[in-house]
Parts: sequence; structure tokens; C-alpha cells
Amino acid sequence: APSTTSAASTATEYPTSHEQIAKPIDTTNFLDNEFVSSQATKWIDLHDPATNNLVTRVPQSTDEELKAAVKSAEKAFPAWRATSIMARQQIMFKFTSLIRENWDRLAASITLEQGKTFADARGDVLRGLQVAETACGIPSLMTGEVLEVAKDMETRSYREPLGVVAAICPFNFPAMIPLWCIPIATVTGNTLILKPSERDPGAAMILAELAKEAGFPPGVINIIHGQHRTVDFILDEPAIKAISFVGSNRAGEYIYTRGSANGKRVQANLGAKNHAAVLPDANKNQTLNAISGAAFGAAGQRCMALSTLVTVGETKEWLPELVERAKALNVNGGFEEGADLGPVISPESKKRIEDLIASAEAEGATILLDGRGYTPEKYPNGNFVGPTIITNVTPDMKCYKEEIFGPVLVCLHVDTLDDAIELINANEYGNGAAIFTRSGSTASRFQKDIEAGQLGINVPIPVPLPMFSFTGNKKSIAGGGANTFYGKPGLQFYTQQKTVTSHWKAEDAVSTKANVVMPT
Ligand code: NAD
Repeated sequence: APSTTSAASTATEYPTSHEQIAKPIDTTNFLDNEFVSSQATKWIDLHDPATNNLVTRVPQSTDEELKAAVKSAEKAFPAWRATSIMARQQIMFKFTSLIRENWDRLAASITLEQGKTFADARGDVLRGLQVAETACGIPSLMTGEVLEVAKDMETRSYREPLGVVAAICPFNFPAMIPLWCIPIATVTGNTLILKPSERDPGAAMILAELAKEAGFPPGVINIIHGQHRTVDFILDEPAIKAISFVGSNRAGEYIYTRGSANGKRVQANLGAKNHAAVLPDANKNQTLNAISGAAFGAAGQRCMALSTLVTVGETKEWLPELVERAKALNVNGGFEEGADLGPVISPESKKRIEDLIASAEAEGATILLDGRGYTPEKYPNGNFVGPTIITNVTPDMKCYKEEIFGPVLVCLHVDTLDDAIELINANEYGNGAAIFTRSGSTASRFQKDIEAGQLGINVPIPVPLPMFSFTGNKKSIAGGGANTFYGKPGLQFYTQQKTVTSHWKAEDAVSTKANVVMPT
């Protein structure tokens, strides 16, 4: 359980166990820096995935509330844009220090609503905080270029904010992904409307509270809730200039297409099927630890989960040892001491995962380790699935073609590195891939030929730090990957480039004749 004497200096009470909350409080909207109760007629019940106890009800924000968020963001934009960059930087410094102080509180909200272990939830917060900390470098990051292009003539480039922008977030990183958007969107001078996942908006609501305390003026950050209706509103609202989306292909392809057709910039990171190729010369112990951590950590609900293992040559013989390591993982409520992985997000998700395991069995694969029906003693009503390893998988099987998003590792076998590269590149997704080898030339060949955004060499989850950008390839990113999150491309996404060419002469020209041709 989280220690009360740790980094969190906040006096606010927060949960440290999965006990039923006596009086669940409805989630509010955040408009004009105020937490405003929704007048919604439709509410979405949010349950603790470890117990299925009610945690809160999330509103389907009403049309009036959605419009109020846009009005608030539009109203705030001119003054926020005109706020000096050093003043915006100061607010960002304060924001980052408040996130650090409230680290445990944010993590506790994630464990309660999303289910991941408290230690892992702290990682979720940290990876987002690092983006915010990097965004504090904005005075240097925003500088433009200048060049004397001709005698007495110079061109300068500027990066200007777009106006009102929006973010639509997934359930699996309730703090990190809002923090891929909030810092860069706002520090560059935009105002933001954020829709957290309706399945776990708690961390985003805490971030809103901290943003207010840090000094963000009313309207710079607004939070609205809901499902498709809210998304459609964002897609069709003319005042919203850009949309950041992270989530599934089903939602993301629709959002990219409709948002783009409405003339908006859209960045959309989508689903994944990340492969790890294991070569016989790899360090066996390090490789097995890395794979079991990355396949089963966060119950496999990471876009960078290593969900597919490609054993090359004799490394097929390592599978029994992998099973032993997976079996040793502690599947439990996320607040429990020593828990390695928690439940999956919902009973529907558990059923979908278990059905995919059953489909593998029906299609002729072997279930080497079966996590179906696993129930920790203390949590009989939770959505738990134990680590599962499926072997003898072929590319035509459903468990290989679909993103499972659960603690399930599917294993395929090939004879050579060439075969592994061919197999991985034939997969529709291209989010991340990893190779385990001691050979520099093998790694270099893999690095050059694999079609994926994030590559790990003896590293299982290569989520790039914020000075780089989180990219993707093929079906894992919309629009061919032109717009990616954070890093320099993230800054470009949230800003419009303007160039100004000026001509100043010490003395006025003496000629009275106009120049009518393009200068040659
Ligand atoms: P999701 O697509 O179900 O939901 C994401 C957001 O879209 C939510 O806010 C939801 O309300 C909204 N939404 C859902 N269905 C919609 C629809 N049909 N139309 C309009 N809006 C809709 O995704 P999720 O289950 O919350 O998150 C898991 C998915 O996100 C996985 O596929 C995972 O790979 C992906 N993901 C990708 C990355 C990445 O960077 N590539 C990172 C994290 C998660």
C-alpha cells in the first residue's frame, strides 16, 4: 500500500485499498477552472476492476456543457496566447512540482480505477511528468529561425499556437497520456479541452486541480466527459483546430477520418501487436525476465506490451523456463504488497481475452500456461486473468491477428533471423518490436529492416523519453505517422509555422518605377 510519508505532501485523503467507498461521489466536469456538477441524464458507472465495487459515476456531459467548454477555451485563448512565454514557463514549473508532490495520490486513483499495481501506476505518472518537465524548456524549444536572405532583407520563422485544441484519451494510461497533451498544448499558447477515458477519469481530474493551483487561468484547460457523443462533438466543432487521440483502431481510424475531413489536424496513435525476436546468442536470463515483465506487466494492457514472442532456432527450448517465471508472478489487487499484475479493466475485457485464448485452442495452438479462471483469494469478484502463454501459434490464427490487450503471450517459431524479420513485417501493426541478441550485426540488421516505430535492442518496452517522439508505423498510427506525440514533432503539431520576410533599407529607394516581375 502507498506510504503516507512518501512524496505526497497533499493533505487530501486518497484511497489506499480496494475497500468499498462508503459514498461514491459523481465525477464532475472541469469548466473555467471550476469543478461543475453535470446535469447529465446519462451516467456511466465506473467500477474498481479488482472488486467491481462502484467507485464513481461519470457523466455523459450534456450538449450545453460541451458547448460551455468550447466557449470557455475560446474566451481564454487571446489572453493566454498573449501571456509571456516566461510566465507560461513558470506555471509549468509549478505544475510539475505539484504533480511530483501528488505523485502517490495520482497513482492511487489509477490503481483504484484502472487496476494496475500501485508501483506501476507510479510509473504511469512519472512518464507523463517527464513530458511536462521537458515542456518547461519551452523558451528554447519555441525559438524560430532567422536568415538574411538578401541585402537588407531577412526572413524569420515563428511558431504560433493554433487556438482551441482537444485530446481524447484511452483507459490504459490515465495520467501519462493526458500528460502527453496538456503540457505541450498549453505551454505553446493553446487552450485545451480534454476528454479522459470514461473508464478512469480520476487522474485527469486531479491533474486539473493541480493545473488550477499551478496558476493556469480559467479556460486554458477544460475537462468534459462521455463516449461517442462527446467525441462526435469534438470532431464537428469548428472552433477546435486540432485533435490528439490515443486508443484503439476502431475509434482512432474513425476519429482521424472525420476530424481530417472537417479540416482539423489530427494525431492518432492506435493499436499494437508488438513482437520480440529471441536469438540463440541472447543472454537467456536477462531475456526471459524482460519478456515476462513486458508481456504480463500492467496485465498486458500497454500499447507497448510485448504480446508476441518469436523464438528463433533453439530458443524454443527456453519456453518451459519462461512459463516458470510467468507462474511466479503475483496476480492480485493493485494495492496489495508484492502484486505484480492487477486485473483487466472490465468483465467484458476479461471475457474477450478468455474467448481469444479459447479460440487459439480451437484453432490448434497449445495453451502452455492457462490464466483463465484465475481468482485471487481476496478478490473473488475482480476481472482477473492470470499470465497465459500460447505456443504453436500460426499467423492465420485469431489470437495472432487481433490485439489481445491482456496478460497473454502468443509464441511463434522460426528458424532464422530472416524468417523472423519477414514474419514481423508481414504483421499489420508496427508500434514496437524488440530483439534479444549479443550480436551487433544481427541487431543492426534487425534495426534497419523492421517496420515499427519503437525498436528495442535487449530492451523490452522501448517507450521513448520526451526529448524523442512516440511514433508508430503501419496500422499503429493514423495518417502514415506524419503527426506524432511529444518531442519536436509534438511541438510542431500544436503550433502553426509563420515566416515573415522584411526589407529595411538605410535610405529610401530613389527609383519611382514599380518592380513587376518576380525577382530573378
Ligand atoms: P478506445 O479506442 O476504446 O478508447 C479511446 C477513447 O476513444 C476513449 O476516450 C473512448 O471514449 C473513445 N471511443 C471509444 N470507442 C469509440 C468510438 N467507437 N467512437 C468514438 N470514440 C470512441 O481505446 P481504449 O480501450 O481506451 O485503449 C486501449 C487501446 O489504446 C489499445 O488498442 C492500445 O493499443 C491503444 N493505445 C495505443 C497507444 C499508442 O501510443 N499507440 C498508447 C496507449 C493505448
